[in-house]
Amino acid sequence: MTRTVPLFINGEFTPSSSSNTLPVLNPATQQELARVPLATHGEVEAAVASAKNAFSAWREVAVPERARLMLRYQHLLKQHHDEVAEILAQETGKTFADAKGDLWRGIEVVEHACNVPSLLMGETVENVAGGIDSYSLIQPLGVCVGITPFNFPAMIPLWMYPLAIACGNTFVLKPSEQDPLTPTRLAELAVEAGFPKGVLNVVHGGREAVDQLLTHPDVQAISFVGSVAVGQHIYRTGTNALKRVQAFAGAKNHMVVMPDANPRQVVSALVGASCGAAGQRCMAISVAVLVGKAKDLIPELQQQMAALRPGAWNDSGAAYGPVISKRAKERVLGLIEQGKKEGANCLLDGSRCTVDGYPDGNWIGPTLFTDVKPHMSIYREEIFGPVLCVVCVDTLDEAIALVNASPYGNGTSIFTASGGAARRYVHECTVGQVGVNVPIPVPLPFFSFTGWKGSFMGDLHAYGKQAVRFYTETKTVTSRWFDSDAVSGPNLTIAMK
Ligand code: NAD
Repeated sequence: MTRTVPLFINGEFTPSSSSNTLPVLNPATQQELARVPLATHGEVEAAVASAKNAFSAWREVAVPERARLMLRYQHLLKQHHDEVAEILAQETGKTFADAKGDLWRGIEVVEHACNVPSLLMGETVENVAGGIDSYSLIQPLGVCVGITPFNFPAMIPLWMYPLAIACGNTFVLKPSEQDPLTPTRLAELAVEAGFPKGVLNVVHGGREAVDQLLTHPDVQAISFVGSVAVGQHIYRTGTNALKRVQAFAGAKNHMVVMPDANPRQVVSALVGASCGAAGQRCMAISVAVLVGKAKDLIPELQQQMAALRPGAWNDSGAAYGPVISKRAKERVLGLIEQGKKEGANCLLDGSRCTVDGYPDGNWIGPTLFTDVKPHMSIYREEIFGPVLCVVCVDTLDEAIALVNASPYGNGTSIFTASGGAARRYVHECTVGQVGVNVPIPVPLPFFSFTGWKGSFMGDLHAYGKQAVRFYTETKTVTSRWFDSDAVSGPNLTIAMK
């Protein structure tokens, strides 16, 4: 019998009373690591109540003290980096090195949250009218909710609650049911860092728990990261319930390769950005757009992709791990078959991949398609596997038109030696995050994570200054202090006097 993951409500790790549980499996072995409960209605209610109760005291805690809490938290996360990464690697199947990267990119956001006093500075204008000054205050919202995907069980929760809490809010996290052990460990470290009771809560569950949170009268804001279909549901339901919502969704990211780009750098970037984390990244490159003679790179690309060896989390030589579940594997294999049927040329087929010693792993080998056309399913759908589609075009104009016709706009990159081509691409592409000779341009947390089009629903993005605005309300104060008892008579106009 494996342990059942506890809920974290009002500072206590408590077992759920739900008999409805799901297995948490190691994707390389199918070993059951734990069971995750689907929290009951009453337990979700208790988590929100705990966050609501904690809010009135937490919002009064001095801002530098909230910053010190984040400093202690980032220190603990660094101290426990390898231990958390080991948990993360086992439940996601990521290689240990990539698991450490997942946590590290979250720690960077906690570091940014340590800067909260500066981030919460408002504005002041003296003398907006005779003897009147105006200033703005940045105030927390109340209870905020985060709903996170399986593919970054450390980084994405850490995109959300540290900054929300540093801003003075309290938080209920509903992590992915596929890898809840990492967020649970993050919550344990939050207790050790000194998070007061109720400031952070963690509940587990699926659609029912999420819908309860989305429509709960005491919830003010919802951050979601996950698939397009669920994101649209979250955005619609949350905004209908008059919540502030940001929903980061799926993607289909293109890398444009100009003929003047350095071939070795291009191939190396394409291999890493398409197959790293078994392609299960919302910023993975899944389409290579080769312009003109750049198509001559295909044989070298094929050779280097073929040399990649997937393996288990504890295999230091593995290039990447299995996909998260049998279901995810079936879906990717279905798309690979569909690609062949629709007429793409499958130069490398990873469908029958095996790994010695791990007969039950959800393995998919590196897969490369050429002659891909925009109407094909492998071009249109997010595959979320180690599959790269190559599209050849003649000009940069065609490449830009192709990228801009995509309904998604999460990330893109251009590889070129020409500043002119790069500048034009950066200026004209309708994608929120652009890399110039950088294949996966995930911004550091002093910027924001700024997906566009179908990859994002909402107004304000994740982390950085935009997240501070998302998790706060601005109050503008107009203030006059009389220095005499003189009365100038009623002002019957709207003009300020
Ligand atoms: P998912 O949408 O299946 O699940 C995300 C979260 O929503 C989980 O917590 C899950 O329990 C919950 N959920 C699932 N079905 C639900 C429903 N019907 N109603 C309410 N909640 C539901 O996503 P996933 O498979 O865990 O993650 C992979 C997806 O996330 C990919 O599409 C990827 O591109 C996307 N993603 C996007 C970003 C980004 O920043 N744009 C980052 C990471 C992942």
